[in-house]
Amino acid sequence: MTNDASRFSDDLGPTKIVHIYHPELALKAIVVVDNAAAGPAIGGTRMAEDVSLEECFRLARAMTLKNAAAGLRHGGGKSVIFADPAMAKAKKETLIRAFAQAIRELADYIPGPDMGTNEEAMAWVFDEIERSVGLPREFGGIPLDEIGATGWGLAVAGDEAQTFAGIDLNGARVIVQGFGAVGRHAARFLRDKGAVLVGASDSRGAIVAPDGLDVDQLIAHKAAGHPVARFDKGRACDEDTLIATPCEIWIPAARPDVITGENAGKLDCKLFLQGANIPATREAEVILHERGILSLPDFIANAGGVICASVEYRGGGQVAATSEIEDKVRHNTREVLEMAHRENCPPREAAENLAAARVKRAMALRRWGSAN
Ligand code: NAD
Repeated sequence: MTNDASRFSDDLGPTKIVHIYHPELALKAIVVVDNAAAGPAIGGTRMAEDVSLEECFRLARAMTLKNAAAGLRHGGGKSVIFADPAMAKAKKETLIRAFAQAIRELADYIPGPDMGTNEEAMAWVFDEIERSVGLPREFGGIPLDEIGATGWGLAVAGDEAQTFAGIDLNGARVIVQGFGAVGRHAARFLRDKGAVLVGASDSRGAIVAPDGLDVDQLIAHKAAGHPVARFDKGRACDEDTLIATPCEIWIPAARPDVITGENAGKLDCKLFLQGANIPATREAEVILHERGILSLPDFIANAGGVICASVEYRGGGQVAATSEIEDKVRHNTREVLEMAHRENCPPREAAENLAAARVKRAMALRRWGSAN
């Protein structure tokens, strides 16, 4: 990791890099507004001790592409706070409130929850500067993990991608790696469309069940605090087995880089539906493409969360969010897959070209023709 900002600059951004330092409060943070041509940048606030400028920039750029691909009136940005998220709550509140005050004048950045922050933290930010998304219901927020905004988008993307992948969602076997907020809702909404969950995992292990798992029972089992591997209806297995188990749809919904050049040859599915951010390396994406496995990129398939946040920012509610997610994710999935088919390139390449072209068109409409 490096802190040399010039290394990241290209024709999209970043437009602003702000370093925040308040020694008295031990507040050290960075905000990257990558591109705000389409509108104020939305992107999460990550709190961890080992964050870096490079990580912040990469996440901000991912948000620029995701927001553009989703057709939102928002650019991309991100912020990182160098601190232990498990600190005492009172100290965390002081730090987050001080961070909010430090970005008061940075009107083209709208923070949201990310690793180490949550809707309560966003309420503190809103209380200070009236600018944040991912708020609690009491502040007019739409609790996106509770309603399963991203999981809903994944199910819609799977529905739209089925013909491109040569599968039928009705009866399709699904495996979910990471049965958390994204994974469990994706399993639930895909089940409602006729798919069958045949494998799942969490950080403590995995199970497979060729005859299918009861999604609601597995969700209740997890909600009661039990690991997936202890669910009595499946056969416990290791991660490699979960990757190699035959299915139609394999959903990564846990960590980055879980599919690499080493194991991409083992996936036995037709559609690799990316719930997690950057779940496959570049090398793996190419291997999947060569093997005829349709890999739908993260920022197309998992955009439900940020679409929900943008509806919230405009004062909309859950019904509006659900319908906008369906509309945008369906449209973008089709556009990307048609382009990938036409140009015989991996869908990620098509998606990046599509998103970058949208950002550049927005930039061309701005007076300075620049990122802001
Ligand atoms: P979460 O913490 O609710 O769930 C993650 C799940 O993955 C947990 O069940 C955890 O036990 C499991 N897990 C962790 N390490 C694992 C491993 N090595 N193998 C198998 N399972 C493992 O998080 P989430 O909100 O569901 O997010 C999951 C991913 O999706 C992250 O990459 C996140 O950045 C991305 N994402 C989330 C949203 C959202 O709306 N929450 C939106 C876009 C992208």
